[in-house]
Amino acid sequence: MLKNFFEIDYVMYKQLSNIKKKISHAYLFNLNDNIYAEDFIFSFICEILCETHNYQEEFNQCLKCKQILNRNYDDLKIIKPDNNVIKKDQIDELQSSFSKSSLIGNKRVYVIYDVEKLNLSAANSLLKFLEEPTDGIIAILLTNNINIVLKTITSRCQILNFKKNNLNDLIKYYNINENLTYYKLLFVIWKKNKFDEMDAEKNNLIINSVLFIKYLEKNKLKSIVFIKNKFYDIFKTKEEIDVFFKCVILFYNDVISYKINNKILYFDNYEKEIKDSSNIDFNILFKKLKILIEKEKLIEKNINLNLLMDGLIIDMEGIEND
Ligand SMILES: [Zn+2]
Repeated sequence: MLKNFFEIDYVMYKQLSNIKKKISHAYLFNLNDNIYAEDFIFSFICEILCETHNYQEEFNQCLKCKQILNRNYDDLKIIKPDNNVIKKDQIDELQSSFSKSSLIGNKRVYVIYDVEKLNLSAANSLLKFLEEPTDGIIAILLTNNINIVLKTITSRCQILNFKKNNLNDLIKYYNINENLTYYKLLFVIWKKNKFDEMDAEKNNLIINSVLFIKYLEKNKLKSIVFIKNKFYDIFKTKEEIDVFFKCVILFYNDVISYKINNKILYFDNYEKEIKDSSNIDFNILFKKLKILIEKEKLIEKNINLNLLMDGLIIDMEGIEND
């Protein structure tokens, strides 16, 4: 079943395929918040514990693999933090259940999620377990924070790194075809990589930001004087204004990218607007970007937001009249 991931992450696929030929007793996966990582790893576990299949169709017909994928299999134990901590009892329970020999196969696997959350006594128990490996028992440790996993643990595992997802991975994973721009901006601005974490408020803020950009590009930025009140109705807090600035900055990035190689990275749904703005000279575009980035930095510093917008208009006007 690893083959399903062949195209998604070739490097990891290759590594796991090689490991399969000679399995050692402990692996630490640095997940890097990768959205595919968990499915990838459980496919790997299927291949360790079942060993017989290569293709999705075969797996779908295999009861053993189905049980593994449903996390409901006697020779697979899973430990997750309880109230944000992994306690000694949890490790001890695992050890005692694995001390009896298996009734099913000759290999057994345990998975520990968020392994950086082991408390000290739990970590000591686990270390003993890792130091005196029993034949056929394989540890799969998972973390999104490899830097804070105890060195005594990392040093006893083979470490495998998932790559961080890029924007295209996310778009593909969630099968997003419509409103691409909104999702891309959501992913990039809030650095989210989980679709279900998104909420309507954030979505509206993006939609409004894009609408404002459209308006401003059509009527020049100084037109904000006429719609200032409307602007402050929508973008009230400094966080909200910051989102607006980030959107505008990404918009100009796209205009520049379009001018250079006809590629639109974020504003796919606004090709016309990008095209229209691409008539602007590089020189002016870079100046605009520079001003926007400078102003965005000021938002952090608790500057009066009215003054900030006034400053933005004056600076931008300066460029447009140059
Ligand atoms: Zn199977």
